[in-house]
Amino acid sequence: MPNSTARYQSGDPQYLEKRFASRAAGMQASEIRSLFAVASRPEIVSLAGGMPNLSALPMEMMASVLNELILTNGAEALQYGSGQGHPKLREQICEVMALEGIRANPDDVIVTTGSQQALDLISRIFIDPGDVVVVEAPSYVGALGTFRQYEAQVVHVELDSQGLVPEALRQAISSVRATGHKIKFLYLIPNYQNPTGVLLPADRRTEILEICREEQIFVVEDNPYGLLGFDRPSPNAMRAEDTENVIYLGSFSKTIAAGLRVGWALVPPSLKEKLVVASESSILCPSNFTQLTISSYLADQPWRNQIASFCELYKVRRDAMLESLEEFFPPAAVWTRPGGGFYVWVNLPPEIDTKLMMPKAIVAKVAYVPGTAFYADGFGSWAMRLSYCHPTPERIREGVKALSGVVKEEMSRRSSAFELPK
Ligand code: PMP
Repeated sequence: MPNSTARYQSGDPQYLEKRFASRAAGMQASEIRSLFAVASRPEIVSLAGGMPNLSALPMEMMASVLNELILTNGAEALQYGSGQGHPKLREQICEVMALEGIRANPDDVIVTTGSQQALDLISRIFIDPGDVVVVEAPSYVGALGTFRQYEAQVVHVELDSQGLVPEALRQAISSVRATGHKIKFLYLIPNYQNPTGVLLPADRRTEILEICREEQIFVVEDNPYGLLGFDRPSPNAMRAEDTENVIYLGSFSKTIAAGLRVGWALVPPSLKEKLVVASESSILCPSNFTQLTISSYLADQPWRNQIASFCELYKVRRDAMLESLEEFFPPAAVWTRPGGGFYVWVNLPPEIDTKLMMPKAIVAKVAYVPGTAFYADGFGSWAMRLSYCHPTPERIREGVKALSGVVKEEMSRRSSAFELPK
């Protein structure tokens, strides 16, 4: 056997590396993925993953929806379907979006396999290697991974407790333009942002839309958490204000069930054809089975009440997390206070490196995601994302308490390392 074949068959990574397309270099497992194996051990309190909590979803009801679907419409549900998505579901999606002020035509909706696929399609259509995508600082790790795979340059723009800062956006646009690079779109998560939990108020939404219109930059509004506000509804979607320049992404992952993998993009009519063709070339069509499951569920079940039950479940967990942070964390730490969604963002003193601290947290039986996962440039080493969506309130308390011990120890170790010898 020639030597090279032997190496190929043994999966020699260096040899394979040379055979990959250059874009494969950007395909690296996210920090979250590599954490999952450890964080999912039962003795660990995982404040790491953002997995929706299905304990509030009545499984008998889901079973009857599925049973009924197969018995009454199995031949359609188990067949290929439209590349753009099932027409009935596209109409129902417009009803769901109406809750956030959007008036849309089902013709402009493309059903995708989770909104993650929509992110992939948009990136595929818009990004040439070296193009710039502007995102919040920090931003959703799954979107950063997609942009990296398409060889975009990601530019982070300041986000404060009120979301993306419009003035910082203006400045970032002019600095990028001065370098001659093309900005393809602004990607943002206005509601209960992943990873910080912050909400962008209505006036900033309007200002950001104006800036992007003036500068001819598309806005990609990613909104999986918009209906998960605990105390009040979120402001109208940005897409409600601007139908021409906003690409809106929605998902049933957090409001129904992530395992069904149904999301969507609502696009300006001029973009529809390209997205549908791009989607067909990767998946032919979204699953009829899961689309029709969602469609029957929306038609026959009290889905608004179900979302209210999810909100109640998450709110209790959010409260448990904020109360225990208040009780246990050192005064030098600051954190966000989300009004909905899944996440709290914690900033620690700059000398702390949350990635290096992770093994100690695991020994203390708690996991989180280090802040650097949410930046394309290695920033955020002193921060961490804590998610409260999954564990019980008691486990959240236990986890935050254990983590506070690790943080305090790390802080005192760091400060004594800088003390002058007496
Ligand atoms: N966008 C954001 C901000 C997310 O947090 C997630 C999932 N965690 C997604 C998109 C992808 O969701 P899905 O593909 O399940 O719709």
